[in-house]
Amino acid sequence: DRNTGRLGASLEDSASADSKNLRAKLVLLGDSGVGKSCIVLRFVRGQFDPTSKVTVGASFLSQTIALQDSTTVKFEIWDTAGQERYAALAPLYYRGAAVAVVVYDITVPESFNKAQYWVKELQKHGSPGIVMALVGNKADLHESRKVSVQDGVDYAEKNGMFFIETSAKTADNINQLFEEIAKRLPRTS
Ligand code: GDP
Repeated sequence: DRNTGRLGASLEDSASADSKNLRAKLVLLGDSGVGKSCIVLRFVRGQFDPTSKVTVGASFLSQTIALQDSTTVKFEIWDTAGQERYAALAPLYYRGAAVAVVVYDITVPESFNKAQYWVKELQKHGSPGIVMALVGNKADLHESRKVSVQDGVDYAEKNGMFFIETSAKTADNINQLFEEIAKRLPRTS
């Protein structure tokens, strides 16, 4: 398996890769159904296909993006594939992650509460210096919105996170999400 050697890549490994070609383990966290798999598939494959659910066996995808300063960032993306239900497994999942993307659904207030739970977990157990993004997904469903933009902005600001609202369905802000994360990764040099 070509990925095996990299599964344990730590933040230090990422940071010590040459400064122009970074590698970063990225984990997605958030309630089931908020759109984590759809965000990944939109980013990696440019598609919105709710039926092609990522399976446990294929829950690891990678995608490289180039920034304007000619840095490239290879994201090694871990989707929980439903394992968010097993809280005890979570630390194994986000160990060594350089990036955590915490997702909620703007139409489901409970998912925003759950996002806050994950942020606290990451603050306690995540890698020091982990880059955290708070993502309000399903922004296309604005007519059913239950979590205000301001609530997302305020929470993210208080916790030193990057905040963005996205739609995996319309592709709104999906690439921007990953670009902004890439810009925030620690650089050596
Ligand atoms: P996960 O459990 O967090 O991985 O969620 P999924 O990616 O499986 O998505 C759950 C459901 O939400 C699917 O039925 C998707 O079609 C839907 N969905 C995901 N993203 C969006 C979005 O941006 N807008 C809308 N309207 N639906 C979405």
